[in-house]
Amino acid sequence: MLQTGFNNSIEFAKKLDAEDQLRRFRSHFLIPCVKGREQIYFLGNSLGLQPRHTKEEINVILDQWASYGVEGFFLGPGRWLDFHEGLTRPLAEIVGAAPHEITVMNQLTVNLHLMLVSFYRPVGKRRKILCEAKAFPSDQYMLQTHVRHHGLDPDEVIIEVQPPKGEHVIREEDILQAIREHHDELALALFSGVNYYTGQVFDMRAVTDAAHEFGIPAGFDLAHAVGNISLELHNWNVDFACWCSYKYLNSGPGAVGAAFIHERYHRDKNIERFGGWWGHDKDARFRMEKEFMPIGTAEGWQLSTPSILLYAAHKAALDMFEEAGWDNLLTKQKLLTDYFWFTLDDINASTSRQVINLITPREERRRGCQVSMFMLNSGKEIFHELTRRGVMVDWREPNVVRAAPVPLYNSFEDVWTFGQIVKGIIQAT
Ligand SMILES: *Cc1c(COP(=O)(O)O)cnc(C)c1O
Repeated sequence: MLQTGFNNSIEFAKKLDAEDQLRRFRSHFLIPCVKGREQIYFLGNSLGLQPRHTKEEINVILDQWASYGVEGFFLGPGRWLDFHEGLTRPLAEIVGAAPHEITVMNQLTVNLHLMLVSFYRPVGKRRKILCEAKAFPSDQYMLQTHVRHHGLDPDEVIIEVQPPKGEHVIREEDILQAIREHHDELALALFSGVNYYTGQVFDMRAVTDAAHEFGIPAGFDLAHAVGNISLELHNWNVDFACWCSYKYLNSGPGAVGAAFIHERYHRDKNIERFGGWWGHDKDARFRMEKEFMPIGTAEGWQLSTPSILLYAAHKAALDMFEEAGWDNLLTKQKLLTDYFWFTLDDINASTSRQVINLITPREERRRGCQVSMFMLNSGKEIFHELTRRGVMVDWREPNVVRAAPVPLYNSFEDVWTFGQIVKGIIQAT
């Protein structure tokens, strides 16, 4: 059920903004302008905006480098050797894990490959991977090439769960059913947390439980889930997860990604992995000895010297999450998204022909802040007109407009204005 008592008026939107305990955070971000006016930026699901103090945090690293050279790893208040710990603490809260279950490294697609090295071990009949249809292209390419690297045929090994014919959203029951049906052939279940196209949230706990019943590991791509919805990776017993941090985590283009590995694997001697010196026992790292001894935490999956400049941008962004409080952000996310749905319903009710089909599941536990609008009429025209007027949303073929109001920097007035502009365009076309 959606929130009742909403009102589609500027006064009401302003009232919600006035009551919003987090409204000051908007001013901590740099909001791009169009013709001198701040954009209505609903693309936080694509590239989150820049926190004002990102530059400062990067400058701290540049200064440290200037002052100390390589000694920067060991000197200064934010010595680079321990920088990682300042990142895993806030991330642990956001993804529902212990800090030692997270390693901040590389980027998303790379980390997915690395996690498959550990968690996709095809043997005998058990070599198939269950995933969602229409996964993000990079995930599809990752799976295809990874499977080929094992000498297997992707068409034979990758099983995609489809939405029912004519529908957009995958039924949860169909995923569980597919796990039961293929249980003795599956080597891995890999789903996204939130599908990038429809905004559908998958029931990660149910998928994990169902897979574990048959001894199948379950992993998740959290690109569109992290910093957006509530996650409990540890308690759900998820085996591994990866994410990028340039979407809802606002850490900049090509920001450093991260992986979660459940603690039950950290000291498992039988688990395969690709190694590198940054995953080697910290006390022995600089002794440069021959035998690889992985750190007994998720950090044992690290390979290379961390990108401290990217760490700095990540820290600046995570500071915002810590300051705002993750629970507060989730509360605002729900209200902001409910209001968004309300205004979109109002548009559909007020136009003579339905123009927007909302394909994101309406049920609260099955959606985050992104709403995907399947445009039934004049989709491209509406999209271009929105962009011209400084309303930033994106377009996915064949005719889906995705928009994501995010609680850190979007306002209720943004949502109201978006609705008014869309209504105006529809009435004029
Ligand atoms: C954004 C996104 C990616 C991008 O991967 P990179 O390796 O960071 O370029 C991959 N998968 C999903 C599901 C995404 O949403």
